[in-house]
Amino acid sequence: MQEKKCKFYKKCGGCQLDMPYEDQLEYKMKLEQKLLGKFSKIEPIIGMYYPYHYRMKVQAAFAKDQRTGKIISGVYQSNSHKIVPVDSCNIEDKKADEIIQTIKALCKDFKFIPRHVLVKHSPTTNQIMVVVVTQTPILPSKRNFTNALLEKHPEITTIIHNINPYDTNLVLGPREEILFGKGFIEDRLLGCTFKISARSFYQINHTQTEKLYTEALKEADLKGKTVLDAYCGTGTIGILAATKGAKEVIGVELEKDAVKDAIQNAKQNNIKNIKFYNADATDFIKALTESNKESQKDNNNKTIDVVILDPPRAGSTEAFFDAVSALAPKQIIYISCNPETLSRDLDYFLNNKTQTKENNKANKNNKNNQTYKITKIQPVDMFPHTTHVETVVLLSKAN
Ligand code: SAH
Repeated sequence: MQEKKCKFYKKCGGCQLDMPYEDQLEYKMKLEQKLLGKFSKIEPIIGMYYPYHYRMKVQAAFAKDQRTGKIISGVYQSNSHKIVPVDSCNIEDKKADEIIQTIKALCKDFKFIPRHVLVKHSPTTNQIMVVVVTQTPILPSKRNFTNALLEKHPEITTIIHNINPYDTNLVLGPREEILFGKGFIEDRLLGCTFKISARSFYQINHTQTEKLYTEALKEADLKGKTVLDAYCGTGTIGILAATKGAKEVIGVELEKDAVKDAIQNAKQNNIKNIKFYNADATDFIKALTESNKESQKDNNNKTIDVVILDPPRAGSTEAFFDAVSALAPKQIIYISCNPETLSRDLDYFLNNKTQTKENNKANKNNKNNQTYKITKIQPVDMFPHTTHVETVVLLSKAN
């Protein structure tokens, strides 16, 4: 079950835990205990049976080696523009790595060097997307290049040319042209079908995502309930909640493209009782409580029974949780990819601790929030060999 030791480990930096998998899980449990142990008991982390080649999205940077003149592909050394050549990786999808190596060989014949190549491979539908990113709009003899790539890899289902003239950390630029296929791929997750475009966020570890979402939703009481899915991305969790009998689901997401995909995903899965809004999650939930205050007189309040939030690594905001308190949902499901900001947010919501010391002093006499109890903290290992750990926290309103 153990893969060969990675020869790029030190220079690449993509993985940080050079130890047996069992020890990695123990390391992550200790981290969870340190940051979240004060709130509640922590369930044993859900690990992977085969913790390798789980990344279904792979990207590689390309450049010409100054010394040898050869084209290399790999990852940027941290804090530099130097590329560490990486030809194969223990955590990346094998097919994606193969395709990247083929493109590297083709570049010589076609006399161009992409800035990046991005590959997404669905393990359930087997659809494969290849995105070739160049700095200028010119991709020399692109039809021949497309045909040559398809000849070597007939399993590719779509090829996209993306143009990124900017020197930022972002891999993709604003313009793209579809060279072959539909311009997106689909993945099956817990019985639903989801569209993945070049730009939209989609969890990269399929096996563990199914476990994560199952954990998040299995103890939620959704039948006939109104659910808010905050930071909803392409709508995955909200759509799954709708299939589990929720009466109405409201999704909110900042990225316009993700919202577009979310709307299509709902249609594709024949879900009619879900609505998506393109907004900042905090602004949106604040507006919801404001309009409730307005309509209090005529008893026209919008009740939210379940709040699900899945924010990025920075976590959520104090204002978001103030609004949650005002809405008083029966259940809160917090899915977090960063236990530090999760701990900070729970400290604010449950213990009234804010980030500034002065406020804490002022709040000293404030009682803790007795309204909500944590019923479960469940860590899931979505990113073996890295220090990242995902956590589901379930909170219920005390009767
Ligand atoms: N729940 C989704 C996506 C989680 S990733 C899934 O499981 O697939 C976090 C998402 O939050 C991203 O899609 C990101 O675009 C979005 N986001 C980041 N900041 C936000 C904000 N301030 N308001 C709303 N959404 C935000």
